[in-house]
Amino acid sequence: MPGKSYRSELVGLFGYPVDENPTVVMIEAGFKELGLDFRYITMEVRPGDLEIAVKSLKALGYRGANCTIPHKVAVLPYLDHIAANAQIIGAVNTIYLKDGETYGENTDGKGFIVSLREGGIQIEGKKIVVLGAGGAARAITVELAQASAARITLVNRNAERGKLLTAILNEKTQVKADFIPWDHTYHVPRGTDILVQATSIGLYPDNSCPDIDYDTILPGMVVCDVIPNPPQTEFIKRAKARGALTFDGLGMLVNQGKIGFALWTGKEAPVEVMKAALAKEFAK
Ligand code: NDP
Repeated sequence: MPGKSYRSELVGLFGYPVDENPTVVMIEAGFKELGLDFRYITMEVRPGDLEIAVKSLKALGYRGANCTIPHKVAVLPYLDHIAANAQIIGAVNTIYLKDGETYGENTDGKGFIVSLREGGIQIEGKKIVVLGAGGAARAITVELAQASAARITLVNRNAERGKLLTAILNEKTQVKADFIPWDHTYHVPRGTDILVQATSIGLYPDNSCPDIDYDTILPGMVVCDVIPNPPQTEFIKRAKARGALTFDGLGMLVNQGKIGFALWTGKEAPVEVMKAALAKEFAK
């Protein structure tokens, strides 16, 4: 049939292991909703093959890709350009191609910020406590700092990791950061505006809760969890029961995907459709 294109635009995901990553469900629900002839391909890329995989994006005409475990940090040397915040975070989760060159972004923290802002929460001048100092905490705290948070207190079990992130925030951003070793039941200080649970505690099938004194969560406090599955973690349930205003990890996940979606397609992502598709998948 003359004029008809049988070629779809391609984006995808590099990870290892990657089989159980459901991002394809969310992104392809968005493509379908907008009638875009795009495909999102989940690709198992072993660590030794990452460089060739990134080069292949150009050869195969991909629009871009997501990177997940264990490639978020390792991918940096193979990209032509890296966004300033992704450089401070030291990790890239989204690659897009422009004029034949690869660009690296980190949308995890940006997705978190979008969720808060859409919920009417202001970040400027706020006192924030973050539980955890891993990849998710890094991405979130750098973006909170760039969004003019006043103070960030990091609480982490591994003191070395906690101190390292505190130093990065103090040296590379405007925020005042401090560190509390997490070797006791943590009491959230009075005057905390936003509490962020950024550890992997509570990710399915784990249903445990971070070791904090839940009575120190006060009504009206903003409490967020990064765990997308289940969206209603025990932590979120307990914070809600204390009268906190809560934000779940599903919102963060969909909003980080929304940013990548726009970079690849040039279109605004249908967030509600994508969120519903993912929630349905998690409920299976
Ligand atoms: P990392 O492995 O880099 O970091 C894990 C963090 O959790 C560390 O701070 C670790 O502390 C802490 N931790 C784990 N278990 C415990 C425990 N029992 N007690 C105290 N602290 C603990 O993982 P990531 O930061 O990359 O990911 C963390 C979570 O964030 C994952 O579950 C992931 O699903 C979620 N995530 C969600 C996103 C979203 O869009 N919603 C995006 C990215 C991640 P220590 O340093 O002491 O080991």
